[in-house]
Amino acid sequence: MDLTAGHTGLSFALSDIILQGMVKWIIQFFKFIRELPSRLRAKWRLRRARKAERMASNTKIKRPKSGHRCVHCGKTHEKLTKDHVFPDSWYPESTPGTVQRWTVPACLPCNGELGPVEKEVFVRLGLCVNPRKVAATGISRRVIRSLGIGAETLDEDEKRIRAALKEEVLRGAKPFVEEARPHILPGIGPHPEAPAERQIQIDIPADKLYQVARKIVRGCEYWFSNGRIVDPPCEIDIYFAHQADIPDVVRIFSAFDAFHFGPGFRVRRGAVHDDPLSAIYEVVIWDSLTFYATILAPDLAVNQK
Ligand SMILES: [Zn+2]
Repeated sequence: MDLTAGHTGLSFALSDIILQGMVKWIIQFFKFIRELPSRLRAKWRLRRARKAERMASNTKIKRPKSGHRCVHCGKTHEKLTKDHVFPDSWYPESTPGTVQRWTVPACLPCNGELGPVEKEVFVRLGLCVNPRKVAATGISRRVIRSLGIGAETLDEDEKRIRAALKEEVLRGAKPFVEEARPHILPGIGPHPEAPAERQIQIDIPADKLYQVARKIVRGCEYWFSNGRIVDPPCEIDIYFAHQADIPDVVRIFSAFDAFHFGPGFRVRRGAVHDDPLSAIYEVVIWDSLTFYATILAPDLAVNQK
């Protein structure tokens, strides 16, 4: 497979096993929306009426005061590192220099664990976004380079590492088949601008995708909620769905202003005034991939078991 030529037509699907999990999640998402307590719905509507205030697109949010806890594991550490809410290498080249690249305090083990996971997800997602999109400028080029293609000046060790990564990614790649269509992550294929038979589907490890999504939400919540760390029993749940299938959800989110991090990322957070522990999120990456998240206090959580 020649990855150097015309990669605009790549599309990606999850493997069958992972897909079952994904379908389950989508069903649970509908369940969540359906069973969202009516009082909560009423409050969201109320808030819509008063025009969300503090999340206007250009507003800069003040950096929360950092304690000694890691945002991801919640443990107290003497020494904390900075972890990018949106992985630094995920920002497109079209990101203006004025964009705040949010970071959160994270312990060394968490930061060390997340790095490779982010990369694993990045190379796969990055291959499937349309490289002509302004919101994804340079992403696919960065991925291609990380696979060692067009990077001849590297030393031998680095070449070997990248070749191994390329081989690993291509192991999960096969020509697009129509049957895979319902399982493709919303927003990243199949691409209408390229013939279907030229498109390639690639497996994306779902557990890692969810891990990165949850990490992004944890980081956003830290900033939006003034240093909040999402502690149990509150939980973060992630959902992927086609917007056409969830008009209810899209309507709820339209009430909340979007917060932009350059063209690459857009976040909407929905919350209610007298329930500070619950929140809903919509996160759009590269103007392509959208995911939704809930942070729910236990009495509001949908029984998903
Ligand atoms: Zn940690």
